[in-house]
Amino acid sequence: MKTVQDFQILADLHTHTVASTHAYSTVNEMAAAAAETGVRLLGITDHGPGSPDAPHLWHFHNYKILPREIGGVKLLYGVEANIMDEHGTLDMDEHELSFCEWVVASYHTSCVTFDRTPALVSQGYRGVCENPLVDVIGHPTTAMFPFDYEPVLKYCKEAGKLIELNESSLQWKKGALENAKTVYAICKKYEIPIVLNTDAHYAGLVGRTPIAEQLLRGLDFPLRLIYSLDRDWIAETAEKKRKRYL
Ligand SMILES: [Zn+2]
Ligand SMILES: [Zn+2]
Repeated sequence: MKTVQDFQILADLHTHTVASTHAYSTVNEMAAAAAETGVRLLGITDHGPGSPDAPHLWHFHNYKILPREIGGVKLLYGVEANIMDEHGTLDMDEHELSFCEWVVASYHTSCVTFDRTPALVSQGYRGVCENPLVDVIGHPTTAMFPFDYEPVLKYCKEAGKLIELNESSLQWKKGALENAKTVYAICKKYEIPIVLNTDAHYAGLVGRTPIAEQLLRGLDFPLRLIYSLDRDWIAETAEKKRKRYL
């Protein structure tokens, strides 16, 4: 029988620092919190320039100066890029994304003007799948962005994109928990790998995913599809992604 301890995520690959002004902790504080909770690989992914409170693009250009490891925690410096339209266009081009080691692509209402029908949102996600620099689809449970779950999630898998299970969305976004029951049941059915991320905007939230864990237990979700628990995948990912700077 798997225990609660088995669910402690070892990678938290979607978090925000004070560089996004609605987040409240520094890189050092986030890393210290990661070490405390058992996270071995931490992704710093402040918002792309499409968000009203995003850092200047120079924020991403200067990642090279930061330590690759703090207190035993490896770091990936990336972005939560905004999907800006129904074609999957991101708010950072290939050149800008090349500074990032880890790219989460997410829809946010503040960044789009199109009519958010399931057909158009689905088309947008398919477009994102064509971008080789995107690693993971962020919080696909947002009620404001309905899409055709089954075909799109299968498409993401074929394109090699990970699907995120986002603790903050489950906690704070209306309708996300209900949508999540459907989304991750489909992931289970088609063996689509997922990552659990906190999307922490404060250090005290890093590495803690109680709502997501409860949801996955309810679905009897296979642990092998949760890459955030997989030491080998995490080590490989850290190594592969960090090479971009060498
Ligand atoms: Zn987001
Ligand atoms: Zn976020």
